[in-house]
Amino acid sequence: MFPRTFDYFSPKTLAETMDLLDDSTSETKILSGGQSLLPAMKMRNISPKKVVDIGNLKELNFLSKTESMLTIGATITTGTLENDLEIACLMPALQETAAEIADPLVRNLGTVGGNLCYADPVNDMPTTMLSLNAYFLLASNAGKRMVSADEFFLDSFKTALKTNEMLTEIQIPFEEGKVGSAFRKIKKGSGGFTIAGVAAQVSIVEDTSVSACRIALGGVGPCVFRAKKAETELMGKMAEAPVLAEVAALAVEASKPISDLTASENYRRKVLGILVKEAVELAYKRAVMGGYE
Ligand SMILES: Cc1cc2nc3c(=O)[nH]c(=O)nc-3n(C[C@H](O)[C@H](O)[C@H](O)COP(=O)(O)OP(=O)(O)OC[C@H]3O[C@@H](n4cnc5c(N)ncnc54)[C@H](O)[C@@H]3O)c2cc1C
Repeated sequence: MFPRTFDYFSPKTLAETMDLLDDSTSETKILSGGQSLLPAMKMRNISPKKVVDIGNLKELNFLSKTESMLTIGATITTGTLENDLEIACLMPALQETAAEIADPLVRNLGTVGGNLCYADPVNDMPTTMLSLNAYFLLASNAGKRMVSADEFFLDSFKTALKTNEMLTEIQIPFEEGKVGSAFRKIKKGSGGFTIAGVAAQVSIVEDTSVSACRIALGGVGPCVFRAKKAETELMGKMAEAPVLAEVAALAVEASKPISDLTASENYRRKVLGILVKEAVELAYKRAVMGGYE
């Protein structure tokens, strides 16, 4: 099918974009990589009157790193993250997530910002950003505000973004000490969407016990969420088999998977337990091996 007719705008600056969004209603949509929006428009699930294409905004196409933070511009593609060797070393979960999204075509067009703002429960970037304690910079003509990943994802396809706001950058703080991260998912076929996904970030102290951790689950609830009881269980311990088994059981208990044509609720629970063990163990091992200290 073809989308319904709409007015197309291609602003060259952030200021111009803000003005276009300012008089916006829910009938205005930002277009970034188009890998989720365009199929939805073609299916006529969404029929915006106005489309604001941010693909030409050079201001949002950047990656930067300081001693304390990695900052990702909203229009950076997932393919760019997949192929960035420094990110693979610093935050392996981020590179692993990017590499697991769809196929090279989708990854080279789809953006990190679009993946987060669409908030499809089977999108992978929300899971990883939640585990990495990311912060999102949201901007409009009314000003800027910073929202944590914990507060950003509200429900299926629902975020804290207001209609005249856009995501401009993602800030990921480097945690102190020895830290490791990992992402694991089960998908349908080689380029398919997530059946269940897990991202973990683990920090350890001198005796290799866990001093901080964040475990995020995707595809097993209406929206991405942290398995907080599982995180508490891991605190102060070493990620050995009995601990991992308990952590996985608590995460599965917190999940609310559905049955659909892709997988049954039971299957999702079973694979989730395995993925939690794998992701937490790998994140822990990476921390023990030195993390990104
Ligand atoms: C065949 C296929 C397989 C896929 N498999 C996976 C997968 O395995 N895992 C996965 O995570 N994803 C998958 N995707 C989704 C893909 O990663 C999308 O690219 C991504 O979800 C959306 O990014 P985009 O840049 O294309 O955004 P768009 O499609 O352009 O926009 C998506 C939504 O976000 C809004 N938006 C975009 N940017 C901003 C911004 N800066 N501020 C505010 N709102 C914004 C748009 O208005 C729109 O509502 C798949 C897509 C396809 C087509």
